[in-house]
Amino acid sequence: MLVVIMTDNRNNLSAASAFVPTLGTSTYKTKSGTHALHSTSKNADSTNHGSTSMKKRPHIVILGGGFGGINTALTLPTLPWWVSDYSSTSPPPKITLIDKSERFVFLPLLYELCVEDASLDEVAPTFTSLLEDGSAATTTGGGGGSIDSVFSIIPELAGALAGFVIPRTMTNQLFGKKDADDNDTNYAEVSFLQAKVQGIDVNNQQVVIAKLSSDDDCGGEIEYIEYDALVIATGSEISLDSIPGASKYALPFYTVEQALELKRRLALLDTHLKYSTNNDSPVNIVVVGGGYGGVELALNLVDRFGWGQNTNNVNVSLVHRGKQVLEYATEHNRRMGIDRLASAGVKVMTTTSVVEILPPETENTMRHDGKEMLPHVQQNQCIVQLSNAEGDTVTSLPTTLLLWTAGATPTSDANMGVRNSILPRDSMGRILTSSTLNVPKYPNIFAIGDCSRPRKVPYPGTAQVAMQQATVASWNVFATLTTNNRRVGGGDDERGIPKLLPFNFISLGEMMTLGSEDATISTLGGNVELSGPVASWLRRWIYAVRMPTPRQALTAAVDGTGRKLARGAARRRKSVEWK
Ligand SMILES: Cc1cc2nc3c(=O)[nH]c(=O)nc-3n(C[C@H](O)[C@H](O)[C@H](O)COP(=O)(O)OP(=O)(O)OC[C@H]3O[C@@H](n4cnc5c(N)ncnc54)[C@H](O)[C@@H]3O)c2cc1C
Repeated sequence: MLVVIMTDNRNNLSAASAFVPTLGTSTYKTKSGTHALHSTSKNADSTNHGSTSMKKRPHIVILGGGFGGINTALTLPTLPWWVSDYSSTSPPPKITLIDKSERFVFLPLLYELCVEDASLDEVAPTFTSLLEDGSAATTTGGGGGSIDSVFSIIPELAGALAGFVIPRTMTNQLFGKKDADDNDTNYAEVSFLQAKVQGIDVNNQQVVIAKLSSDDDCGGEIEYIEYDALVIATGSEISLDSIPGASKYALPFYTVEQALELKRRLALLDTHLKYSTNNDSPVNIVVVGGGYGGVELALNLVDRFGWGQNTNNVNVSLVHRGKQVLEYATEHNRRMGIDRLASAGVKVMTTTSVVEILPPETENTMRHDGKEMLPHVQQNQCIVQLSNAEGDTVTSLPTTLLLWTAGATPTSDANMGVRNSILPRDSMGRILTSSTLNVPKYPNIFAIGDCSRPRKVPYPGTAQVAMQQATVASWNVFATLTTNNRRVGGGDDERGIPKLLPFNFISLGEMMTLGSEDATISTLGGNVELSGPVASWLRRWIYAVRMPTPRQALTAAVDGTGRKLARGAARRRKSVEWK
């Protein structure tokens, strides 16, 4: 089902569903009452904002609601659309966030979801709930005021707030706007559309999407969405296309569904282990990729099976193509990661590549008690063929569970939709942009996060980069639309015309989980380095603060703290020896 949810709290939503057949309705409540949730699509709605001469609402479309996309969707309505000459001729924009999933995923907490250290609502809140929170916190309204004085401070403001959604109160104060009240209808409107992007027709300024079909596979009816400005933030996915056998046997670790599937497979392994003796059908878990994700996953798996308690029959191996794991991590975090891998007994294989995955030579189907092995444990068994740096096949690794964290790519075969455009890309499929994050020759198209490349040496594919880019891209969309509007309308002079900001990454440091009670943090240019349980608590709280909305931050802080306390108590209980 395709659903678009209007998240502003205006009373009149009827114009918004003008052009596409209604696909479903629901209701939601805001402080101004209960409203219909309209299913709709294309924009082109002209809205009565108290002025009959107003043009249609410009339509800003955001593709992908990950760290880059959701923060763009939450930041855009906070910008001062009501100031400048812009507001006298144009209503504030309509913003549509499109994602194939109904949930935003806080990927750094995916491990916690898998081992039940975090709830689904903490790690993956629905877009609907986030945008509802966002509209309550950030709705801005019409009004007047000169922008000449305030625009000069924007670069500093953006730098200071890099990565954070600007609170409404702050923009209102800065731009001389009183808080929007219920009668104030002159503000940006954000809606969510669950659909898969199939292509981008830049010449006609349209995005091609596929609605969800009945099997929820996004393979449904095709629709066209027009845009005045486009922000592409579709992230990356793990591609299993290039290794024979990988798509059959390997489980990537990148989505909520994959994390929940891993949780299910681990539970099956628990059952299997219950009936196994030490020498009987050992569980061999192979993690491919020695970057942050692979190291974190390998250590959390050892932790999950109990650090030497149940692990006699569980072997965890980490296969990495590079010379050392955590190549791009800070010195401190790399040292901690390598140290913990060694003490956890993870077999680390560097300068090693997976070349092929084969079915097991003889299927190990029997347990020691003579019963059949669980079919799901059986069906994931495989032989991982490894080669060294010279390309010689050196090892065949019998594997019970193969997990894949390497080879994230912006446009895998499964996600070709975003590639279906003439936008320039690098060999990895990342969209090339200028330093102001817009695509050369397409001033109204911006690309941010993992799917983009604004400079020769790519930024690391991290949430931090995507969030900071969201702030700058939002401002630049605002600057582009308001400037265009002035030009079209005969315009103002140069005074107060918002300028496009270049993106400069401010590294806030990095954190890694090394197990449920262990983490490592390196921040302030290496001046603060922490590891162990304190770092683990701190990491969780920092992530809570980085949640997209204050309400979600509170949910994460309460849920995360509660679960950590409960887990600690359970561990203490386990360690008491009763006589
Ligand atoms: C397990 C794991 C742990 C991580 N840990 C950390 C960490 O600790 N710190 C850190 O900074 N970074 C971490 N990262 C990396 C970080 O999560 C990414 O760099 C970040 O999510 C990139 O943000 P983004 O907005 O570019 O893309 P994403 O957050 O990946 O979002 C992309 C969105 O686009 C949607 N989408 C994709 N294609 C389509 C389509 N065709 N149609 C519709 N929607 C589409 C997806 O559903 C998704 O919601 C981790 C990543 C993983 C996988």
